[in-house]
Amino acid sequence: MEEPAGRQANKKVVAVVGGGLVGALNACFFAKRGFQVEVFETREDIRTAKSVRGRSINLALSLRGRQALRHVGMEDKIVSKGIPMNGRMIHSLSGKQSPIPYGKKGQFILSVDRANLNKELLTEAETYPNTKLNFDHKLQDWSTETGLMTFTRSDGSRTQVQADLIVGCDGAFSAVRKQFLRRSRFNYSQTYIPHGYMELTMPPRDGEFAMKPNFLHIWPRNTFMMIALPNLDKTFTCTLFMPFEEFEKITTGDEVIEFFQKYFPDSIPLIGAGALRRDYFRLPAQPMVSVKCSPYHIEDGCVLMGDAAHAVVPFYGQGMNAGFEDCIVFNEIMDQFNEDFSLVLPEYSRVRVPDDHAIADLAMYNYVEMRAHVNSRWFLFRKRVDNF
Ligand code: FAD
Repeated sequence: MEEPAGRQANKKVVAVVGGGLVGALNACFFAKRGFQVEVFETREDIRTAKSVRGRSINLALSLRGRQALRHVGMEDKIVSKGIPMNGRMIHSLSGKQSPIPYGKKGQFILSVDRANLNKELLTEAETYPNTKLNFDHKLQDWSTETGLMTFTRSDGSRTQVQADLIVGCDGAFSAVRKQFLRRSRFNYSQTYIPHGYMELTMPPRDGEFAMKPNFLHIWPRNTFMMIALPNLDKTFTCTLFMPFEEFEKITTGDEVIEFFQKYFPDSIPLIGAGALRRDYFRLPAQPMVSVKCSPYHIEDGCVLMGDAAHAVVPFYGQGMNAGFEDCIVFNEIMDQFNEDFSLVLPEYSRVRVPDDHAIADLAMYNYVEMRAHVNSRWFLFRKRVDNF
């Protein structure tokens, strides 16, 4: 059995399982408090990997997420590499564009690069001498009795590690959560929506953004939609959300163009017909899952955060932001209960479950709003202060 590096008699060992967005940020929160932090991430180090697989290329960072970044001194660094989006830009079938501001003048959400955000957070976590990042460590199993975790590595070897607290930040298909499912009085539900998503790239035009950059562009078509968020390299990442059966009906390049001609004609010259014909078939449409569970903890030894606790559909732009907020809430409760895990963990579940479930419900609702309600006349005149 491996003893975590740098173990000190006076500070407990916290194992953060998952070095994604929430895990990497959480490592900073725990390290700041002086714990011996060990992060275990199944992937190789994305800062040096040749290719990085993952979900959306960019995502919207809102106030919730910014506040959490501020706690660990990362807000300015991340915001400086984000592109402000002051509102939605609705694209009608005729190509007419109508802006809807998100809030008052000066209020905005930010489009940020997912991979860069994750890299910056890992690098920040590593600046704490009491933090160790362990890549290529996949959690296989852990014991609720002893807290002993078993990891496998790509060379087939196995490692066992013990920690005082296990923090499950290993995403929607959490291996940490598996142990929760074996326990009585653990509530769990998982729902796949009938829609999938596909990402397409809109290149720059004459070295500039092909559309107005400070908006989240939406092509709402009632039963499906396309959105586009700007990137620093002056591209847009367009995401098409549609029922799987509609994706599957399109089987040739000509059919792709026909479909775009019918529903998103203004986007064809901007994405490029050749790119559309090719990129539509590059990867199959990806599924979207919503996970709700409670409680988020087991006794005083394990807690779930981020998507491991509450994967939400992406339509409210709040999955990561809510996961970041989990870190703040946990941190505040740690202050309140003097880092006594036996009091902190139940309080965290009590406070956090209703809020995260509310975000999950709002995310489901916002899909209908984004693809359908924004088409209504009255909506276009209404001022709104929400996300996406
Ligand atoms: P993840 O990002 O899934 O990270 C989990 C990490 O754990 C990964 O690095 C994984 O490799 C690792 N891991 C998994 N299993 C193991 C194991 N057994 N052992 C060790 N490590 C393991 N959210 C927003 O706030 N704004 C948006 O605009 C937004 N847009 C989105 C668009 C799309 C298309 C999608 C799909 C999601 C979007 N989200 C958005 C949601 C956001 O992506 C997630 O909420 C966020 O990634 C959750 O972070 P996480 O760290 O909890 O989980």
